[in-house]
Amino acid sequence: MNNPVRPADPDAIREAAGLLRAGALVAFPTETVYGLGACALDIRAVGRIFAAKGRPPDNPLIIHVSCLDDITPEVASVPEVAKQLAARWWPGPLTLVMPRGPRVPDIVTAGLATVAVRVPAHPVALELLRAVGAPVAAPSANRSGRPSPTQAQHVADDLGDRVAMILDGGATQVGIESTVLDVTSDRPMILRRGSVTLADLESCLGVGAVDSVNIHKDREAARRSPGLRHRHYAPTASVTLCQPKTAEALASEALRRGEIVAVLIRGEVGQTTLCLPERLDKERTNRVLMPHAAIDYARELFGCLRALDRLGAGALFIEEVPRDGLGGPIMDRLERAAEGSGQPR
Ligand code: AMP
Ligand code: MG
Repeated sequence: MNNPVRPADPDAIREAAGLLRAGALVAFPTETVYGLGACALDIRAVGRIFAAKGRPPDNPLIIHVSCLDDITPEVASVPEVAKQLAARWWPGPLTLVMPRGPRVPDIVTAGLATVAVRVPAHPVALELLRAVGAPVAAPSANRSGRPSPTQAQHVADDLGDRVAMILDGGATQVGIESTVLDVTSDRPMILRRGSVTLADLESCLGVGAVDSVNIHKDREAARRSPGLRHRHYAPTASVTLCQPKTAEALASEALRRGEIVAVLIRGEVGQTTLCLPERLDKERTNRVLMPHAAIDYARELFGCLRALDRLGAGALFIEEVPRDGLGGPIMDRLERAAEGSGQPR
């Protein structure tokens, strides 16, 4: 089988743009995670995204464009608040949900009256989007339910035989997906927490200007963002979230049951990289030291979950992280991983 991974040099990007224009799927790096792209206006191409990922058809896609001006044909109107936020955050990890324009196909928005748009802050993504000259629909480039890919190899592992090309731009910087913000109502509402935090949004729009509901328990948010309904971020290993300092005790019970066990604990202040054993010991609890600061933790999290699957882990015990700032979005993903883990796929 051909290896679809190509270093993201100018030739490969030009070729990738041609493939996209011809209706094929191309995975590419963004600053958040790798995206699985298809020409957003090509219904059959977008259909291939859903088929390749095994994505439920009621989970809409984010459209990627290279600059603010490029959203004009895709949206019915640009709310004032969207202009303000785009000026501050684009290119960047903020997705804005706006009234949908007439030419965006139903399959992209899952039939909703809104469309989600963003300009990614990654040179390869931007060069690719400019070369395509059309909006590109791109969800995360993983099999549905799996942790999002933060390296080209993760995409190859999940979708290698289903994509025409994977542009390799190295490991992604942010590591978790964009913040999704609905700006169609008077009060913008966060539909998915991400690296642009509530505090970041409030620094732009004013304190109290953004709804910060608990998106897991809020029915209105679930209705507006169908993605919240689905299983997410789950490794093959079972995941148990634990209070700090309790992971090892819980893990020892699983060890007695004969499982291959790892605990994920935050390292000391100043630890910025992931500390993962090369192989997992079957006889004792394996310790994985996560970076201390949330920004580094977020960058390493999904790659860590994937690496532990590859090493054959059966049960993961993950210590909760403080929920302030980026800790909130990280905890969202850990909770979703715990909900969906250990199930047959
Ligand atoms: P992914 O690209 O896989 O990270 O998922 C895209 C996320 O954006 C999912 O949570 C979707 O539910 C959400 N999304 C995409 N389009 C819309 C939309 N029109 N309204 C609300 N949420 C959306
Ligand atoms: Mg996704």
